[in-house]
Amino acid sequence: MSDSETPADGGPRDFIRDIIRADLAAGRMAAPVTRFPPEPNGYLHIGHAKSICLNFGIAREFGGRCHLRFDDTNPVKEEMEYINSIQADVRWLGFDWGEHLYFASDYFDRLYEWAEHLIHAGKAFVCDLSAEQMREYRGTLTEPGRESPHRGRSIDENLDLFRRMRAGEFPDGARVLRAKIDMASGNINMRDPVLYRILHARHPRTGDAWCIYPTYDFTHGQSDAIEQITHSICTLEFEDHRPLYDWLIENLPVPSTPHQYEFARLNITYTVLSKRRLIQLVTEGHVKGWDDPRLPTLSGYRRRGFPPAAIREFAARIGVSKSNATMEVAALEACARELLNRTALRRMAVLRPLKVVIENYPAGESETLDAVNNPEDEAAGVRAVPFSRELYIEREDFMEDPPKKFFRLAPGREVRLRYAYFVTCTEVIKDAAGQVVELRCTYDPATRGGNAPDGRKVKATLHWVSAAHALDAEVRLYDHLFARPDPGADGDVMDDLNPDSLEVLTGCKLEPALADAPKDYPVQFERLGYFTPDPDWTDAAPVFNRTATLRDAWAKAQARG
Ligand code: ATP
Ligand code: MG
Repeated sequence: MSDSETPADGGPRDFIRDIIRADLAAGRMAAPVTRFPPEPNGYLHIGHAKSICLNFGIAREFGGRCHLRFDDTNPVKEEMEYINSIQADVRWLGFDWGEHLYFASDYFDRLYEWAEHLIHAGKAFVCDLSAEQMREYRGTLTEPGRESPHRGRSIDENLDLFRRMRAGEFPDGARVLRAKIDMASGNINMRDPVLYRILHARHPRTGDAWCIYPTYDFTHGQSDAIEQITHSICTLEFEDHRPLYDWLIENLPVPSTPHQYEFARLNITYTVLSKRRLIQLVTEGHVKGWDDPRLPTLSGYRRRGFPPAAIREFAARIGVSKSNATMEVAALEACARELLNRTALRRMAVLRPLKVVIENYPAGESETLDAVNNPEDEAAGVRAVPFSRELYIEREDFMEDPPKKFFRLAPGREVRLRYAYFVTCTEVIKDAAGQVVELRCTYDPATRGGNAPDGRKVKATLHWVSAAHALDAEVRLYDHLFARPDPGADGDVMDDLNPDSLEVLTGCKLEPALADAPKDYPVQFERLGYFTPDPDWTDAAPVFNRTATLRDAWAKAQARG
């Protein structure tokens, strides 16, 4: 947060919370009532999370309440699948609407009455212009619009036509109901905006009851008023709609007078947040579904293993402002890393195994060594890790002909196996093609636990897994879905997809304790990153997703130049 001053109530500070504090101080309400109003035409993404944390957060901090309201006025694009996923995702993020679950479609009767109310007051009319004509009449930012030839219709004629629209007498697009405001207004939204359109489409909740549907503008503020919302918080693109929002509230017999406030929407690097694009990525098969861990959807983050607390922390850090900006995806990952460093269990896993035989360790024997579960959390305790004559280490931890700065294993060199012993490489075994397939080593029994009694030092500590005890697993490594921070900035977004966004490793070797890894929380594979079991997991074939690397590899690469 940019403002370091802490308000008296101890909560976060931003311009919206300041407005609420002022309204409370002035006695304009007893407690704030907010709402999160998704349109059920896609899955929730990280941008929605910002809005959810803001709306539900305010309700929590100020003793108010937050409604979950489905803005379901467009029957063509909306589905039950989305309604269900949105509820699951809001809950997963840690918020609860209690009994306050609403649907704009529940207000269709009242909205219809209010439309007739405007007609009776001479403030709405039925217009027969085609969509194209209406565009022509609307004018531009610099030119006023022209009045529709149907604007002068009598109240009776308007009522009659509107009722016949509702009765299904006319085809889609034949007529609309428009507010009668001001075709010369500098704000195009005030130039006799459309309130109702004809759409012979089955609605997921109201079925065939309606063949006319209210527009977003005619629905949103009135739904807020019905629910006694005090602060209707939306993104900046609705700023120009606010005069219309206020006009409708003033001109209708609504039960309360909500106000709209706008904040900047969230954008993040290396991804897209538009629902249209996300749907395209899913339907065209660029990803494997809405919960693909590469997507910025909440279900994608869940599958990838992101703790919801990391997303809430990210929302708190980016704060709320009035200027649009793009946030670094690295900042989101940093929130996950900081949390997981404190809370994730440490385990050993070898992703690209290279076999090591300890020649002076007796065949057929094994022992267990104590390994710390989390150095950041003493209460997490220790576990027993089996050690034996045949082990796996990471292929990249060995070089036959190492350059100066490579301190890990090499012929003749001694390194530490974490929690275990010092080992020295004595022989390199290759296949016919010259590929290293096995190392022969010796261990020093005096170094049990990883320290030499004579005080001699080694320059590297490697993770390892005992071959006889290892669990075989698949590990999925994810990278940014797009190859550039600003996908689509010069050309088609889809041309910027990162061809290497998913790497699947099979035959990975895990220490046996990972069979019991928590299924919904990451563990740290030592030296490698944070990993979470995927729902595809079976006991016969464990699968892990990489949740986050240990450090920001992209930042590191940039620093190297
Ligand atoms: P899109 O433009 O991708 O279709 P939308 O804004 O139409 O998204 P809605 O379902 O209408 O999606 O959004 C529900 C709520 O979430 C709205 O109040 C909207 O302002 C907010 N929201 C959507 N996207 C973002 C974002 N990127 N950052 C912050 N809030 C957002
Ligand atoms: Mg919307």
